Amino acid sequence: MEYETLAVLAGLPEDDPYRAVGLPVYGVAAYGFRGLEEGRRRFEEGGYTYSRLKNPTNRALERRLAALEGASDAAVFASGQAATLAALLALVHSGDEVVASEGLFGQTVGLFNQVLGLMGVRVRYAPPERAAFEALIGERTRALFVETVANPALTVPDFAGLAALAEERGVALVVDNTFGAAGAYAQPLALGAHVVVESLTKWASGHGSVLGGAVLARGTDLWRAYPQFTEPDAQGRVPWEVFGEGCYLERVRQLGLSLMGMALSPFNAYLLFQGLETVALRARAMEGTALALARFLQAHPKVQGVRYPGLPDDPAHERAARYLKGFGSILTLELGSLEAASRFLEAVPLLQAPNVGDARTLLVHPWTTTHGRLPEEARLRAGVTPGLVRVSVGLEHPQDLLSAFQKGLEAV
Ligand SMILES: *Cc1c(COP(=O)(O)O)cnc(C)c1O
Repeated sequence: MEYETLAVLAGLPEDDPYRAVGLPVYGVAAYGFRGLEEGRRRFEEGGYTYSRLKNPTNRALERRLAALEGASDAAVFASGQAATLAALLALVHSGDEVVASEGLFGQTVGLFNQVLGLMGVRVRYAPPERAAFEALIGERTRALFVETVANPALTVPDFAGLAALAEERGVALVVDNTFGAAGAYAQPLALGAHVVVESLTKWASGHGSVLGGAVLARGTDLWRAYPQFTEPDAQGRVPWEVFGEGCYLERVRQLGLSLMGMALSPFNAYLLFQGLETVALRARAMEGTALALARFLQAHPKVQGVRYPGLPDDPAHERAARYLKGFGSILTLELGSLEAASRFLEAVPLLQAPNVGDARTLLVHPWTTTHGRLPEEARLRAGVTPGLVRVSVGLEHPQDLLSAFQKGLEAV
């Protein structure tokens, strides 16, 4: 089935006693059983016992997400941050290393340097190019980590080179596909990634109303290279023998949900499930408006530069066209100075907030907000300048957006 069809049909429960059309919310903490034998079996077979581990509403969302990303399965979490943490913890031990791309989402860098750092895992950074990553891979490297599209630099990694490198070295390629809009703009598992993590807070939700995250994986025998899957676990089972290719997500659930409790509320799973029904339409509409806006800004005398991968002369265009299904809904404009950016943002009649993928267009000044805590030199390296404004294009009529930008630019 095509993406649009899966977005409205995948994951719907097939065994609802009332034949409900849509997703029921199971707002319960625990699931009962009658007698010792049924309880024993439910625990042994990984059935429904307690909602920190498994909930039918969350499970429906996992099945829908897996269909949309071309994954064999998924696990959902309370936020994108929780998903990223669980995805990596399942791959590393103290003393291991991760190679990650420069210019990652700021909180991901914090998570890697501070939380993984506390656990004795070292993360090293390089541009997401094959040679640069290869130079940092060592004996203890257990994961390569990149984002589908960097923010706000809007660069696209060398997917083919990195996927080949990951296979050759027996290391998992993990991609943060938040900017891939739950598969509507990009499906990294089809490009050779072993694992996808994503924030559902952004395009998947689409309404900026809830937080959520997911870890998705495809079938691979790569896990046989990891001792946590080939040696007996705390219960004396060898995960690869018991779960096969599903052993990785089983560990992600065990660590992130069962033990750390970073579980998604079923009410939020319900809202995210609704959001996904329109993700394909929203992604396409936003992309069309983003291109129209990028062209308008490119021709505007007050704008010194525009970055949007959908522009044929954009530095990311060639790779985006090769690897992605869509050019996305994020663009940046360069106004030349802090003062020009300030005048523009005072005058432009649009919302300003540090979020992306929302139904409403949202602007942000990365230099003073999302990237404000980084040293100047690190900001510049991430493509953040004092005059840069990031735009997450929403669902407004393109003409209204162009008029709003025109108004803001008149004040520059
Ligand atoms: C927002 C975001 C995250 C974190 O997700 P939350 O749901 O906010 O925890 C991770 N990566 C990227 C690229 C993001 O944009």
